[in-house]
Amino acid sequence: MAERTETESRKLLGRLRDAMAGDVAGQARLDKITHLIANSMGCEVCSIYLFRDEDTLELCATEGLNKQAVHETRMKLGEGLVGRVAKRKTVINTPNAPQAPGFRFMPETGEEIYSSFLGIPVQRIGETLGVLVVQSKTAREFSADEVYALEVVAMVLAEMTELGAFVGEGAAMSARHSQPVLLRGTVGQEGVAEGHVWLHEPRVVVSNPIADDPVREEERLTHAVDQLRVSVDQMLSMASGDKEQKQVFEAYRMFANSKGWMRRMVEDIHSGLSAEAAVEKEQSLARSRMGQSTDAYLRERLSDLDDLSNRLLRILTGQGADTGAEMPSDPILVARNIGPAELLEYGRKLKGIVLEGGSVGSHAAIVARALAIPLVVHASKITNDALNGDYIMVDGEQGVVHLRPEDTVASAFRDKIAMQAAAQERYRSILDLPAQARCGATIALHMNAGLMADLPSLVSSGAEGVGLFRTELQFLVRSQMPRRSELSALYARVLDAAGGKRVAFRTLDIGSDKVLPYMKPNDEPNPAMGWRAIRVGLDKPGVMRMQLQALMRAANGRPLTVMFPFVAQFEEYRAARNEVDKTLAREERLGHVLPASIEVGAMLETPSLAFAPKKFFEEVDFLSIGGNDLKQFFFAADRENERVRRRYDTLNVSFLSFLQNIVERCRETDTPVSFCGEDAGRPVEALCFAAIGFRTLSMRPASIGPVKSLLRRCNLDDVRDVIEAARERGEMSVRADIMAYVKKQHQA
Ligand code: PEP
Ligand code: MG
Repeated sequence: MAERTETESRKLLGRLRDAMAGDVAGQARLDKITHLIANSMGCEVCSIYLFRDEDTLELCATEGLNKQAVHETRMKLGEGLVGRVAKRKTVINTPNAPQAPGFRFMPETGEEIYSSFLGIPVQRIGETLGVLVVQSKTAREFSADEVYALEVVAMVLAEMTELGAFVGEGAAMSARHSQPVLLRGTVGQEGVAEGHVWLHEPRVVVSNPIADDPVREEERLTHAVDQLRVSVDQMLSMASGDKEQKQVFEAYRMFANSKGWMRRMVEDIHSGLSAEAAVEKEQSLARSRMGQSTDAYLRERLSDLDDLSNRLLRILTGQGADTGAEMPSDPILVARNIGPAELLEYGRKLKGIVLEGGSVGSHAAIVARALAIPLVVHASKITNDALNGDYIMVDGEQGVVHLRPEDTVASAFRDKIAMQAAAQERYRSILDLPAQARCGATIALHMNAGLMADLPSLVSSGAEGVGLFRTELQFLVRSQMPRRSELSALYARVLDAAGGKRVAFRTLDIGSDKVLPYMKPNDEPNPAMGWRAIRVGLDKPGVMRMQLQALMRAANGRPLTVMFPFVAQFEEYRAARNEVDKTLAREERLGHVLPASIEVGAMLETPSLAFAPKKFFEEVDFLSIGGNDLKQFFFAADRENERVRRRYDTLNVSFLSFLQNIVERCRETDTPVSFCGEDAGRPVEALCFAAIGFRTLSMRPASIGPVKSLLRRCNLDDVRDVIEAARERGEMSVRADIMAYVKKQHQA
């Protein structure tokens, strides 16, 4: 970059800072800034457009255009040249604006006499806040140096906007972070909650974007980058066993040592930015490239750079993960993503969780569900929009998040919370009553669990037992393989807390999306259909034996129930049962007290097992249908893939017929069967399962009340008739007919 432009841009930034320092209201500041920029760039026009709402830009200040147009002229995202700059997040530099593609004539501004146009997106870490424009009468293309200088100014403007510098009397616009925002995501865990934002990784605030001592800023940057390199080397040495993690840290090291990255940041500093602002400017550019790139590899690398920039910013500003902010008493956790262990650390203190990424089947979602904390995933941009302490409402029923809601929205939301509380009250009133349908049939309702913390729900929900205890959660939340003695103590506490109620311990279900942090990850093309659950257990029996021993010792003379996940054929069950028998014999030899009795069940999660020989049904002590997996394999629709996971209805007649066949086969051999997938906790689904013959269902504790309440109002014979009639008519799903029936029961 030419020395002259560097000095020019530094001078301009210096003046901008002076303009900011004065005690002037928001609008006056913006006016002053446009005046300064137009003068310094030798242009007749400088204008600032900022977002009014998500897709409307508003002319907020101008030097050179008609002043009456300020706060009047608006355009949609993508509309006109300004709208295009914002939409594409790229610069438009043209000597002949009226002829440029997309130009839109706005008579109120009087801009038709200006020929050249340079529009720069005002971005903060990839998020577009507005557009900065200069225009002149002479038809000329702006030089690369001029574009660069204006980019630097735009960066500072973004920081100022973020800091609320343009708010005040005669405000240019309300501060970005004080406007209400509605975000639509995906339901991760039902329930509604209100509270205050607690950012898992608080955003770094750069309060000093402009600096006038480039030598000092360069030194600060060099020092911070040195520190960064040391910490990356440390991370790399600690990740010695894990290939994938190592690759990520190697990419980090490459960036941390990249001369290009450093050179660009030093250039930014010499044009007048502080070290922090220079890091952010490069981070912004990388983020917008990330958004545009279709190359997955490149996107990954840009996201590495993004993470590294955050680390560098934390070093520079001294704002670590711990900013000293105090967690509110009603925290709603907001994060891009979070691991299960971190989530468990927060525990039940959280009122709700909103994730920008995440997925419904992820570990974090499993933990949130286990803790019964309302969770919305895929709430895009939430970490950009939310600030620590913002008021927020999470609607885990609809997958909607209201950030800083207006009063009317807030009160409608509170009505909803009140309605839920009233429903809870109704459920409490039937807590001690059986889930008996009007026809007299009684359904045993059990609960799913995975954490010690779930056990108190056995009493509060009225569950008859634990139909599924997911033992892998204990393995997932640790950094190393738990020891047998630890597991045995934990299982014993679970049995103590269950106070004699049956607990079906499912042996370790790992693989697929559940990867243990301390086990070598498998690079499988299709992990859901890969080396998982009982397949791992049988191929590497050491862990399975250790777990079985831990369970037997925990039972210590009490009855024990064990079930194996993902059994696809009879032989697998036989082999697993053989392990149980061998372990029992070993425990006896070692002189341990054996369980009073032991039931060994299988989870039916692949369609193949439904067609196993009759002998299997005779031998197995009980079957539990893992509907989440069974449904994904029945319809060949990935339960983790948002595009397809809701494509096929659980109440599809084919699926119901399939389930009914299983129930009938079990009836022939007197094999106890239950359903423990998520669908068992959905009242309408549960009603249909009961109607086709299930007498035991296992679900999240919070679902027991709603399921029981509906079952008690319905007659299963009638429900069966409705299903049969829909099937006869050739309906694809029985849902509409069942809903109509349920509605009638509510009215009755
Ligand atoms: C299931 O597949 O339905 C099940 C209960 O197991 P998980 O969700 O843990 O795979
Ligand atoms: Mg499963």
